[in-house]
Amino acid sequence: MYETSFSQAPFVYEALPTRVVFGSGMRSAVPEEVSRLGISRALILHGRSHDAVHQELQRALGERYAGAFDGARMHTPVDVTEAAMKQVAELSIDGIVAIGGGSTTGLAKAIALRTDLPQIVLPSTYAGSEMTPILGETRGGLKTTQRSLKVLPEVVIYDVDLTLDLPADLSGTSGMNAIAHAVEALYAREANPVISALALQSVRALARALPAISADPGNRPARTDALYGAWLAGICLGSVGMALHHKLCHTLGGSFDLPHASTHALVLPHALAYNAPAVPQVMAQLCDALGVERDAPAALQAINRAIGAPAGLAALGMPQDGIARAVELALANPYWNPRALTSDGLTQLICDAFHGNEPRAYG
Ligand code: NAD
Repeated sequence: MYETSFSQAPFVYEALPTRVVFGSGMRSAVPEEVSRLGISRALILHGRSHDAVHQELQRALGERYAGAFDGARMHTPVDVTEAAMKQVAELSIDGIVAIGGGSTTGLAKAIALRTDLPQIVLPSTYAGSEMTPILGETRGGLKTTQRSLKVLPEVVIYDVDLTLDLPADLSGTSGMNAIAHAVEALYAREANPVISALALQSVRALARALPAISADPGNRPARTDALYGAWLAGICLGSVGMALHHKLCHTLGGSFDLPHASTHALVLPHALAYNAPAVPQVMAQLCDALGVERDAPAALQAINRAIGAPAGLAALGMPQDGIARAVELALANPYWNPRALTSDGLTQLICDAFHGNEPRAYG
């Protein structure tokens, strides 16, 4: 009997409108992209580690440079956005250029939500926020997430050179954060063959590149593959809903103030092992993409070892008595997931991630 090669289920696919410029040295395209968007007064957002790039772009933009802001923080606190908004008003800017990781991109998106100003984003990590219409903001310690096309950047410039100085440990965990987007896209409720193709290509690129970057952070071909994989993973994150893994990471990160990328790296093998019995076809595809015969969760844990990821959530500062609270929170308001959630199963999963154990079958 003939079966389709991609999907037997009906699906909906919706493309998101972002222009992408990719390649080593491509930050040189910023002035041209600023012109294309008709920006005459650009505000540059940058992390402290990118002051030299900020100055380079200031020179390149000349009179179209209006000023800079370097105060972005993880989880987009609203008070930081309000401080940046003062500068937006005082400088009468008409466009944003953001250089940095997910935190800087988050601030650009928060300004765009309030102003609808155009954004040009130059990512320097593998978090993928630049490809999504999603914004998480924190007010009074509480993080809320919303979707709006207003926050989706108009232009993303992936300059591989901006990732060369991303420290080896953060490169590895940030890359695992990207793999997590791709993995959960494969079994998402809205999964579709286009996004699944991108997801598998993303896993292939990142799984190969991350150990090479860990051994030699200046390995430009590996950096190129990793950034390519992160781009594709970002498309996955922006296009379909995420499941148990992302719910757990949001809960753990928010409740215990754990670092974003490392939390994703440590939870992913266990969350995938939990879901494995419900998605056998995805597990086979993932094994193929990861270059192993069986046991995709173990292959992901092997990448964690190769990149020197922290030993477990305990090493990130999560308290032992937080395990029960995390389970309770994850069950209270769950995301859609391909496998039903059980308290016992989640407790085993989080315990293993806490201690840095090998992933196994969860009940
Ligand atoms: P980050 O942006 O906070 O960066 C981590 C650290 O690395 C920072 O200290 C930063 O200054 C430094 N850094 C970044 N790039 C560097 C480079 N090339 N060289 C040297 N140092 C560098 O971390 P992140 O993991 O990229 O982003 C996490 C944030 O992004 C979280 O707030 C998360 O919620 C958000 N996020 C949002 C989405 C979304 O779709 N809305 C998606 C992914 C992540």
